[in-house]
Amino acid sequence: MAHEEADGDVDVAIVGGGIVGLATARELQRRRPGARLAVLEREADLGVHQTGSNSGVAHAGIYYKPGSLKAQLCVEGIRRLYDFCDEHGVAYEKCGKVIVALDRSELGRLDELEARGRANGVPDLRRIGPDDLRELEPHAVGIDGLHSPHTGIVDFRGVAAVLAAQLRDAGASVATGCEVVGLERRAGRTVVRHARGELRARQVITCAGAWSDRLAVAAGADPDPRIVPFRGGYLRLRPERRELVRSLIYPVPDPDLPFLGVHLTKRVDGEVLLGPTALLVAARDRRRAFDAVDLRATLGWPGTWRVVRRFWRTGLTEIGMALSRKAFVRACARYVPELRPEDVLPGPSGVRAQAVGRDGALVDDFVVSEAGGALHVRNAPSPAATSSLAIARLIADRADAART
Ligand SMILES: Cc1cc2nc3c(=O)[nH]c(=O)nc-3n(C[C@H](O)[C@H](O)[C@H](O)COP(=O)(O)OP(=O)(O)OC[C@H]3O[C@@H](n4cnc5c(N)ncnc54)[C@H](O)[C@@H]3O)c2cc1C
Repeated sequence: MAHEEADGDVDVAIVGGGIVGLATARELQRRRPGARLAVLEREADLGVHQTGSNSGVAHAGIYYKPGSLKAQLCVEGIRRLYDFCDEHGVAYEKCGKVIVALDRSELGRLDELEARGRANGVPDLRRIGPDDLRELEPHAVGIDGLHSPHTGIVDFRGVAAVLAAQLRDAGASVATGCEVVGLERRAGRTVVRHARGELRARQVITCAGAWSDRLAVAAGADPDPRIVPFRGGYLRLRPERRELVRSLIYPVPDPDLPFLGVHLTKRVDGEVLLGPTALLVAARDRRRAFDAVDLRATLGWPGTWRVVRRFWRTGLTEIGMALSRKAFVRACARYVPELRPEDVLPGPSGVRAQAVGRDGALVDDFVVSEAGGALHVRNAPSPAATSSLAIARLIADRADAART
């Protein structure tokens, strides 16, 4: 199949040109030399959604429940990711991170994080006191903390670009501007209908991020869970104030929420971001404020209302931060007291694809399911960028098993 074409017969069609779809395609290409592969991405560019609009942090695996897919794939993923960046010259820095407890009420949760990190095999994790914290982050305050030197920052879009180049060099098609609108089983093949025509595939894998429930449910998968979009907004530090943050400063997260809380993060391009917020929004596409189809899907899902009832207080805080720069900066200044509203500039934003169960549960772990002859990545929230090369290994294992 020629470059950029998206018709005819292929062995595997992968829907979604984010880091998970591209890594999965690349893993399958390595395992199945000579196989015909096509990646279909609806946007004109690759990696423009979550892959290109996140905090850029390579997580070490501290937060996740031991034994969960998130824990296993994050620890494996960061190792593979650093190796990949070394091998292909993608920008990264193992700058380390601190998770900071501000008062005694957070110590129990910090203990739990430390225990999880150790159980998950996070390298070099250590408990630190205020003096160590001052040495690592001279402008930060806290009574206790965890230091993870293995955590780093990565150019995830750069990783996606290398994966796409490798795919194309080895003969795969990576077609952009190619939204998939339907999957249909016909005579032992899946017909993939898309914006520029259709192709027939022996196997289909959907890695569609914020739209991951749409194709899966249309293909006959369980409607539970659905994706509910949460906007993550950032502020940027003015260049002359970047010295306030040396690496990555994180709070002790709320254990009821799948998000890590507003943090201060250096990026590989030198910017320092504050954020992200987590605001339930009316569009899955981060470039839009409103989308009628998305809004109807969100409001029509019983889980949304249960989330709103359960987290309305948190929701009000998030709205406050989204509306007021002062409130946003105040939340960050709890960790870096010198921070002032005049130190920041408007920053980028991304939309998290968060799967929400009918019962209002915020699905925490990665979920991959099978329906209609296709494998569907139903939930790949943070740290799926870090874990992408390990998620790809898992999906390729499942795809291989489904073939035999
Ligand atoms: C604000 C924010 C901060 C985050 N911080 C971090 C972090 O620091 N570290 C970390 O590891 N993770 C982080 N994450 C999570 C991480 O970015 C995602 O888990 C990861 O990028 C998921 O990759 P993906 O390929 O599944 O999704 P995406 O990058 O969203 O890609 C999905 C792709 O599918 C395409 N698509 C959808 N529907 C169709 C269709 N019908 N046809 C064709 N194409 C389609 C989309 O256009 C998109 O390009 C963060 C996420 C956000 C939003």
